[in-house]
Amino acid sequence: MLEVNEIFGPTIQGEGKRVGNPSVFVRFGKCNMTCAGFEVEYETPSGIKKCSCDSFYASDIAFRDEWQKYTTAKSLIEEVDKLLPDYKVDIVLTGGEPLLYWNDTEFQKFMKHYVEAGYHLTIETNGSIDIELKEEWQKKLLFSMSVKLSNSGESLSKRVNIKTLSHIINSVDESYLKFVVSLDSLENAIQEIDDILVQIPSCEVYLMPLGDTAEVIDKNSASVIELAIKKGFKYSDRLHIRVWNNKRGV
Ligand code: SF4
Repeated sequence: MLEVNEIFGPTIQGEGKRVGNPSVFVRFGKCNMTCAGFEVEYETPSGIKKCSCDSFYASDIAFRDEWQKYTTAKSLIEEVDKLLPDYKVDIVLTGGEPLLYWNDTEFQKFMKHYVEAGYHLTIETNGSIDIELKEEWQKKLLFSMSVKLSNSGESLSKRVNIKTLSHIINSVDESYLKFVVSLDSLENAIQEIDDILVQIPSCEVYLMPLGDTAEVIDKNSASVIELAIKKGFKYSDRLHIRVWNNKRGV
């Protein structure tokens, strides 16, 4: 069963390699991490106070009752089709962690349908879950892998999966890594990113500023740009946060 927190668009992709592209987003529910280090405070529907990332409503199963359940790819495709304009947009699968559904045949059918129809699919993933890429059409997916650093609060063994990162980079052209970095974690970030990169095949690397408001992004962006230039990485802004301050559904 596919559990979907929200489907919205067309809007623009606000970050990463396809920034600015008109896109429809499918945000899947559930995540294998909690990332308390990102310090976004929230309350669950039953009133428990917690701390996680800015997508807590999709990652925390405490919100599961609010998610739509799809037992077939066909029923999810019908919902996504309602939002598609009369030109080809990107379709972005995000979360939570969408790769938790990778072994679900309906998830595979859903992706294959749009790849074969000529849509560009991006999977926004934390890159920590083992997957197999056996089908030729799967190699047309773009994996945008936001590998978590220690500022996420997660353990190294949980957040960095060298085997999966290497498999995806070797199998899928143009897949890339992106790291969220803040002013107060710069020194650690450089070391941690270098430690990861020496263990995997070479690929494009983007740095993004931490922040779930335009104000916080502003505070972090100049230092993150400097670091990107120093290390030969690319900088990705977070346009959707600058424009809409992380409002949902845009
Ligand atoms: S891996 Fe991503 S979606 Fe999951 S808790 Fe961490 S930041 Fe949130």
